Amino acid sequence: MMYYSTNKQAPVVNLQEAVIKGLASDKGLYMPKKISIFPDSFFEKIEEMTFQEIAYEVASAFFGEDIEAPVLQNIVYDTLNFDTPLVPVSDSIYSLELFHGPTLAFKDVGARFMARLLGYFTKKQGIRDVNVLVATSGDTGSAVANGFLGVEGIHVYVLYPKGKVSPIQECQFTTLGRNITSLEIDGTFDDCQALVKSAFLDKDLNGKLKLTSANSINVARFLPQSFYYFNAYSQLRRLGITKDLVVCVPSGNFGNLTAGLIARKMGLPVKRFIAANNKNDVFLQYLLTGFYRPKPSVQTLANAMDVGDPSNFVRILDLYHHNHETITQVISGFSCPDESIRETVRLCYESTGYLLDPHGACGYLALLENLLPGETGIFLETAHPAKFKDTIEAIIQKTVEIPERLQVFMKGEKQSIELGKDFEGFKSFLIQD
Ligand SMILES: *Cc1c(COP(=O)(O)O)cnc(C)c1O
Repeated sequence: MMYYSTNKQAPVVNLQEAVIKGLASDKGLYMPKKISIFPDSFFEKIEEMTFQEIAYEVASAFFGEDIEAPVLQNIVYDTLNFDTPLVPVSDSIYSLELFHGPTLAFKDVGARFMARLLGYFTKKQGIRDVNVLVATSGDTGSAVANGFLGVEGIHVYVLYPKGKVSPIQECQFTTLGRNITSLEIDGTFDDCQALVKSAFLDKDLNGKLKLTSANSINVARFLPQSFYYFNAYSQLRRLGITKDLVVCVPSGNFGNLTAGLIARKMGLPVKRFIAANNKNDVFLQYLLTGFYRPKPSVQTLANAMDVGDPSNFVRILDLYHHNHETITQVISGFSCPDESIRETVRLCYESTGYLLDPHGACGYLALLENLLPGETGIFLETAHPAKFKDTIEAIIQKTVEIPERLQVFMKGEKQSIELGKDFEGFKSFLIQD
């Protein structure tokens, strides 16, 4: 399979090159040239398949031409050794829990898949000293760092905004050591993302170091996220539900939603999507006005979605040939201020006993307000509520148990390096390190 750049000014590349380069040379994002459509027979038997079996079928459609079948199967089965259960929350609304991986957030799937794929390519080509740069507003850093921990020949630099990620999130990447270095940037998430983007475009730096990204701009990270939309549908069919399905995706950089849109293009019968944002709602404004106006991000309770210029927006435009009308037919938007997040977490917990995290709360509220009679809603519960312990405890006035997996990180010692947000400082650090 070949991959083209959304800017159409760079040559098409194969999977290996798309994964190793991350961003195309014309600053565009890579997209698969062909999106295969599954036959009806696949969907009719999907409820008899396990998550790993489903994911392997989907992965083969993307990557089957580029990787030998047993290797790909190993990568998929090794990445997905946990489930994504569909849990009923209230009338016609289900939570798709994506937080049963190692760092208790959905990014584990893409990060683990990418680490294994990149590890495979670099080993096969005898490439050493690959540097993965990743900007994080919270969860990406922990998922990527844990996904890549100990992968030979690859070093990971995690850039995060100083003081703007929760202590529980922070300890999940700053305590690892080994091939993981954490850089505490004096700025916002957008500053971190800008540093990473500048690094990829700096000719001098790329002449000295092999750099790649593990943000959702990388095809190896965002495409595997389509697996769990298929798994959700499989579970719904087991409940006898096959149509009028609405999927609501709490969105920041829109990698997750884009993967869902691709699943729909492959024939997955999703009627429509809702993109749930926090106060950072440039996508909603685009849907309403037809104009995309990126803005600096503001800090919210759902901090993994504090993004003012979502990088995957161009992929959505590309998927629908820049047609605003088509996009508004498939996706509607939603903006959830902090007050509503608090209210939703509290009310949902009191009335159903289900504990949401701040991101899932945006998704749940969007469905409560938008679901039409006859429709079934699924929102992606993107993180375990314990990752936002202080926020959630203040809302429900009860102690939230921290799962064992998180407690292990919290016992580790924080190791990070403080840097300013200027590119030259960052660049000279990378060269010296
Ligand atoms: C990353 C993240 C999101 C947003 O996902 P995108 O693919 O960037 O839109 C939502 N919730 C949580 C918990 C996340 O970590």
